[in-house]
Amino acid sequence: MSQTPAYQRILLKLSGEALMGSDSYGINRATIEQMVKEVKDVVEMGVQVAVVIGGGNIFRGVAPAAAGMDRATADYMGMLATVMNALALQDALKHIGVVSRVQSALTMQQVAEPYIRGKAMRYLEEGKVVIFAAGTGNPFFTTDTAAALRGMEIGADIVLKATKVDGVYTDDPKTNPDATRYESITFDEAIAKNLKVMDATALTLCRDQKMPLSVFSIFKQGALKRVVSGANEGTLVHV
Ligand code: UDP
Repeated sequence: MSQTPAYQRILLKLSGEALMGSDSYGINRATIEQMVKEVKDVVEMGVQVAVVIGGGNIFRGVAPAAAGMDRATADYMGMLATVMNALALQDALKHIGVVSRVQSALTMQQVAEPYIRGKAMRYLEEGKVVIFAAGTGNPFFTTDTAAALRGMEIGADIVLKATKVDGVYTDDPKTNPDATRYESITFDEAIAKNLKVMDATALTLCRDQKMPLSVFSIFKQGALKRVVSGANEGTLVHV
């Protein structure tokens, strides 16, 4: 073990969109290879890693629903997209020698194990990475909410949201050059200001269960390891 970790067990939320890298759709090979290297680094520190993977790089339920598609159907398609990403992630981890298990919130036994909390905990204790696919298994939710929920269920010390943006900003930094990044912010403030950090359901869950949340960019090399070592690379959201 190279460094003493600040956390024993983490729930890492990887956004689907981050998997696209510089592409406009799907999974960018170089990007996923870089991501799994970052995961391997923290596994080697002795940290237990559970991952919730998003699906926005393949399918997001909101836009098709807005265009007239049944929302629940679109959301199930979104959940299926996360299963594809989970399998890609497992494959990429395997390539670099990291053992993982995929557990899906929607039953599809030929493809992935069903979500079983006790089994997931056992895998983590064995040092295996557990990838939670299909979000919460329910339409009208997001994978951010799945991250908060699974994080609590497995008794994670922190939820780490690894995304394209390097933290929580006062406004969208892409459209407002004056937007500044918060070093830390309370859940209440993030909810009241409707900041783009996680949806309100996920934030409320974290707040009520006093689950800290760290938001940082997955594209900064070594960021995950630094966060797991106790650094604040982006924004810390707390009670
Ligand atoms: N989704 C859902 N229930 C869940 C998780 C996800 O219905 O519990 C659907 C929803 O349509 C969402 C899509 O799956 O838009 C992809 O997930 P998300 O947008 O959270 O992925 P990310 O933003 O991380 O790419």
